[in-house]
Amino acid sequence: MSKQVVDRTIGFFKKNLETMDPQKRFEYINRRLQGIVQYAYRHSTAIKNKMDSVGLKPKDIQTVKDLEKIPITKKTELMELQKKNPPLGGFEGIPIHALRRIYISPGPLYEPGEIEYDELGWAQGMYAAGFRPGDIAINTFSYHMVPFAMQMLDNSLFRIGCVTIPTGVGNTEQQVNILKNLKANAFCGTPSFLLNIAEKAEEMGLDPKKDLHLRVGFVAAEMVPESLRSELEERFGMIIRQGYGTADIRCLGYECIEKHGMHIPDDKIVEIVDPETGKQLGHGKTGEIVATTFNKVYPLIRFGTGDLSTLTEIPCPCGRTSPRLVKILGRVDQATKVRGLFVHPGQADEVASRFPQISGYQVLITRREHKDEMTFLIELRGEDDQSDKLKEGIERSVRDVMKVRGEVKFVLKGTISEGAKRIEDQRTWE
Ligand SMILES: [Zn+2]
Repeated sequence: MSKQVVDRTIGFFKKNLETMDPQKRFEYINRRLQGIVQYAYRHSTAIKNKMDSVGLKPKDIQTVKDLEKIPITKKTELMELQKKNPPLGGFEGIPIHALRRIYISPGPLYEPGEIEYDELGWAQGMYAAGFRPGDIAINTFSYHMVPFAMQMLDNSLFRIGCVTIPTGVGNTEQQVNILKNLKANAFCGTPSFLLNIAEKAEEMGLDPKKDLHLRVGFVAAEMVPESLRSELEERFGMIIRQGYGTADIRCLGYECIEKHGMHIPDDKIVEIVDPETGKQLGHGKTGEIVATTFNKVYPLIRFGTGDLSTLTEIPCPCGRTSPRLVKILGRVDQATKVRGLFVHPGQADEVASRFPQISGYQVLITRREHKDEMTFLIELRGEDDQSDKLKEGIERSVRDVMKVRGEVKFVLKGTISEGAKRIEDQRTWE
């Protein structure tokens, strides 16, 4: 059998969209936004109610900036509305009887399954990860109830031209045999399940690199730590890229070969907002991911994900021109505002991970003379590690990662109690 060499590192799923110049992209996105707002106002009672409640008409929404006028829909509100008006709470843009399926996610939250699945995001993401026509992919996400495996990924694999083996979750030994016997070269699933597969294969006396044929993987549902990614890439001899999205609004970001954050698909708008005011924050600022889709079946407009991130528009060497989510930092409800900026335990972890000398830490937020102060209490592995150079280095990282200045204070081992909150807010407001 001849082996065709595939270059998985170049190419686009929709080149004209993905490489649009910024001005064209701006016009394209605004045009599609106007279209979906008009459509949703006419066909979705929930969107009409929402806009009417603040006296908005579709013509008031011309650009992404205008989206700020529309109140954000939080997951809890979506759940409430669905309970009152099942299954989709009036957010549907087509009659319920015209759907193909109804999916159920924990909550419960219901999601529509349309007849023609034409969402771009996941297909763009898997292509950018290196999936190519003719690949044989195992899809190890759950095919029951929830929409991710069957609706989103299965259809997207089909659109790229891949052959799908719908294995679903679990049965690790059987999955290893399937991978081996069918020479599957592509993987969809969680990074932790891929690790299970590696371990099981080795237990069965197989070498994942030589006896299995995986070359490319698309992981989602949990963030992949860099150490785990490189371990898996090395063990299997494959490329692994991740995507981000939700069951309701689908793909909101995907990594390309460069791994410089996650590109926003061309059929979504992502805003980063202050969760308290709903106002858009500039690039580089941390805030809640609020998303709008152009999907007429379920036209969610300004859906609040509850996840925190930052947007960047620094050009990506891959040639895609869409803005990127730098990283998912965690949940909004775990974040604390310091001098007007959100700080999150995930950011503090990132600072700490840059310095192997650190054995424990806690961030204290206090207030002096009506000003917020942030102090990093740091325990070191060895007392000898203490130096002004290290202190300055950590403070610089705090500034880089958290965008807020903080003071580093070295404390004796055992000062920070086990199970202490990573960010302790000691401010009082009387
Ligand atoms: Zn890129």
